[in-house]
Amino acid sequence: MYSAQHLIRRLGRAGFAECIKNGIARKIRRGWYAIGDPPQDLVTAVHRGGVLSCVSALEKHGVWVPEQPDVHIRTSGRAARIPDSRFCQRFGRDDPACAAIDDTPTAVQYAARCLDRGEFVAVCDSVMNLGFMTGEQIDYQFRNAPKRILALLDRCDGRAMSGPESMIRFFLEGKHVKVRIQVQIDTVGQVDLLVGKHLIIETDGREFHLERFDEDRARDVAASALGYTTLRFSRDQVLYEWEYVTTSIMEAIAAGVHQRPSRRVKCARERFYTEL
Ligand SMILES: [Zn+2]
Repeated sequence: MYSAQHLIRRLGRAGFAECIKNGIARKIRRGWYAIGDPPQDLVTAVHRGGVLSCVSALEKHGVWVPEQPDVHIRTSGRAARIPDSRFCQRFGRDDPACAAIDDTPTAVQYAARCLDRGEFVAVCDSVMNLGFMTGEQIDYQFRNAPKRILALLDRCDGRAMSGPESMIRFFLEGKHVKVRIQVQIDTVGQVDLLVGKHLIIETDGREFHLERFDEDRARDVAASALGYTTLRFSRDQVLYEWEYVTTSIMEAIAAGVHQRPSRRVKCARERFYTEL
């Protein structure tokens, strides 16, 4: 997806006219042309009089975002808008856009007003974890935002490895539960979250891999042998069964599981050697 100005710069006026004439460049709206087969959400954004932004742009850049039913578009400033189109907002006025898709620093500003608090923290965690922006750079983008947004930025942590992990951490901190992230445990490895001394919370990624499944179970058994209790949740459970996830965690904490070692279960290898 290219602006007419960009194409004229690259191809010259004659070359640009030729591209339109022979159908290589397809007009999407005044001043914007598609060449080849651009993604449908990008075409939709430009056609409606905006640019792809907010969580839709962040997802394109590889940032973790919760699934959204709609394409997130922001106005490009000058273009006529298709009536009834929904445009994302940021704190402050829109800048004119020079590309059909916003960069990460711009897109993250729009996400603050489209996501709930936990989701927004999870998105900022992912932006930092992937090295797109530092915490200071994110703070700078929100320098004019209300205090409640600045308070959320204080709760972001770029060490978080996944969105679901961030959302659970945010929830627990809100309940004043002390939680440590990405804790290294001997013979188990690095665990997502550790509550108290003995409750491990792990979240699984988007894809299901059989090798990963076996590996995770081996980790759970090793953790159990050391007296840890592991609660493991899939990405879909965190996104679609939030009530179940949070209730399970809070019930475990209410039962004091995080404070005392679970009954030690010997792992298969130990049993094997004991029985020899
Ligand atoms: Zn949005």
